[in-house]
Amino acid sequence: MELTDEQIYRYSRNILLPEVGGVGQERLLRSRVFCVGAGGLGSPVALYLAAAGVGTIGIADSDQVDISNLQRQVLHFTDDIGRSKAISASEKLERLNPDVNVIVYEEMITKNNIRNIIKNYDIVLDGSDNFPTRYLVNDACYFEKKTLVSGAILRFEGQVSVFKPHAGGPCYRCLYSEIPPAGMIPSCQEAGILGAVAGIIGTIQAVETLKEILQIGQTLIGRLLIFNALTMSVMEVKVKRDPKCPLCGESPRIKDLIDYEQPECEVDLSSILGT
Ligand SMILES: [Zn+2]
Repeated sequence: MELTDEQIYRYSRNILLPEVGGVGQERLLRSRVFCVGAGGLGSPVALYLAAAGVGTIGIADSDQVDISNLQRQVLHFTDDIGRSKAISASEKLERLNPDVNVIVYEEMITKNNIRNIIKNYDIVLDGSDNFPTRYLVNDACYFEKKTLVSGAILRFEGQVSVFKPHAGGPCYRCLYSEIPPAGMIPSCQEAGILGAVAGIIGTIQAVETLKEILQIGQTLIGRLLIFNALTMSVMEVKVKRDPKCPLCGESPRIKDLIDYEQPECEVDLSSILGT
């Protein structure tokens, strides 16, 4: 692949970096990244990856844009309310950078389709907002030997890590082996989220993805980064591969994908507003 003059100019601030250069930029343009979710995390992730010239970006989201999403999901605008999030996202990314081929998946990600989808990609980004999807994505990435860049946010906090068990690191289940019972951990819908925190965590996911593609620096493999916006502090926890992990351990119990039940999530505005 030869960069055109326009591409050399568009990506000049990437290419100027010795760690990227023309060869790295060509690598980015050839790379294929799959984003689970086009919401609070998926928005900054996809925007920065598209801007950087990641050549193929798959976006899966079965939701429609709701007015309450706009406080943090910066890919969607007021006139997108009611439209498919995946389509809304793809339109913005194509306008940002026509070099990028955006592939849209409006269907729900399930155990029946996920392996077939992700096998066409190099890296998977999890920006989902629920545990059933989070565990499904982790397990599918393990079986398909795909690097998983995982992010999670709640209230003023966020967590990021990179899981690459096929290269020796831990998987998400080494950290949290089983799905928590429904209702034990509140969702953003129930507990709130400061929109800019999604921006920070999603942007860190984008950085880790670009580093993985370019094979530069030290990524968060084996490390969980925990960010707190109220104290503006970052903590790091080492995560080792767990020999007892039900998925990637020595005697794994999980041999196939599981569709966990999606918990019912109704917003009770009266409890939020105290009325
Ligand atoms: Zn594991």
